Amino acid sequence: MEMALNSTAKDVLTKIEKAGFSAYIVGGAVRDTFMGILPSDYDIATNAEPKDIKSIFPHTVDTGIKHGTITVIENKMGFEVTTFRKETGYSDKRHPDLVEYVDDIKEDLKRRDFTINAMAYSLNDGFVDLFDGERDIEKRIVRCVGESEKRFKEDALRMLRCIRFAACLDFEIDDDTFSAIKKYGVLIKNVSSERILAEFNKILLTDYPEKIRLLYDSGLIKYIIPEFCDCFNTEQNNRYHIYNVGEHILKAVENTPKDLALRWSALLHDVGKPRCKSKDSNGIYHFYGHHKESVKIADDVLHKLRMDRDLMHDILVLIENHDVHIDSSPMAVKKMLARTGENLFFKLLTLQEADNSAKNMQYIEDKLSKIRAVLDKAQQIIAEGQPYTVSQLQINGRDLIKLGYRAGREIGDTLKFLLDEVLIDPKLNNRDYLIRRALARKKKI
Ligand code: ATP
Ligand code: MG
Repeated sequence: MEMALNSTAKDVLTKIEKAGFSAYIVGGAVRDTFMGILPSDYDIATNAEPKDIKSIFPHTVDTGIKHGTITVIENKMGFEVTTFRKETGYSDKRHPDLVEYVDDIKEDLKRRDFTINAMAYSLNDGFVDLFDGERDIEKRIVRCVGESEKRFKEDALRMLRCIRFAACLDFEIDDDTFSAIKKYGVLIKNVSSERILAEFNKILLTDYPEKIRLLYDSGLIKYIIPEFCDCFNTEQNNRYHIYNVGEHILKAVENTPKDLALRWSALLHDVGKPRCKSKDSNGIYHFYGHHKESVKIADDVLHKLRMDRDLMHDILVLIENHDVHIDSSPMAVKKMLARTGENLFFKLLTLQEADNSAKNMQYIEDKLSKIRAVLDKAQQIIAEGQPYTVSQLQINGRDLIKLGYRAGREIGDTLKFLLDEVLIDPKLNNRDYLIRRALARKKKI
């Protein structure tokens, strides 16, 4: 096997070695090489300390100096260079706090999480694979370095990382490692939200969305989205559905493209259903108001995970509207476009498609053709530049003031009044006409 090294990475290794230290490519880049993937970046482990690295390279950034990591910038590429260290405590559940440098790559590899991530390569030694990482890549297995239970107790985030690698690489999880996750899942509660969210997002963005099921099978999801588990005990005795709520959710997520807002909203769109279940006199189940309950739960979960506000806003709007029937009439489409904005509107239709495709096949074609009609209409409205918000009117608040309107509500109401006309007939969106209409209205109020 030949290490997939680019010339700059080779240069960085050579410079560190020429200064009298050892230097190894570690982690993802070695794993990628064994999987036949071209690495996207290179992490380096060395016995040189950050101060030594700074004296070798003119451009460095202190990205994690407390933990012995600095980033070397060479040829416009960044290389994270970390001093060999031993496994140390994670008292803040974020970063190993007691950094204890060691002189040997072997010690450094022992502290790494999984065998597939614990291989190294140096120009002098070639590959170093102390824990059979290569074999596990061949077998497509994620397995802890050392004793799984001990490793998860040291840093519970590794449980989520394990699922992340299994999902992103389409690997299985070693039995012993998986049992340890089932046993110690609760420890994930001690991990900081930022670390959880980063791994969770990577899981959701996997190329193998069917693997998202591992979050449920392992039991980990219970500690991140507690309401999720009840969904698997909630049947949907209703002709549109053939799965229980949990299975339906997983299918819906699988049907979404690789987009964070879409995957998150698919995951959470029905979590409110167990709390909203009712049964009518024919024994049919209904879930009235579940979109609102799902928004409430999602708001709570995403807040706790400290998700950034813009992404969270999009996810909540998608959940809130996931079940809204949008008519394909121009008026209905424009109203929804105004409510969500263009970008989110198309995501909403994608979510609705994914959601409906996870229900009873018998009704899918009808549903999907309706959604497609809405999509066509929206594309036409946008392509023709038909206005659907006041900001697209050929008249604005300043114009109205010039016509004698007082600043405040009068202006907002008048713009809405004009928009209502333009929504019906886009040709009316011309300045002369709108000024005339505004003047006429002014006389009446
Ligand atoms: P990616 O390609 O997704 O970046 P990666 O393997 O480089 O994959 P990182 O999260 O960047 O993953 O971590 C780099 C390396 O650091 C890992 O390969 C692993 O060896 C080690 N590592 C990271 N986090 C932990 C952890 N919590 N416990 C033990 N080792 C870890
Ligand atoms: Mg990496």
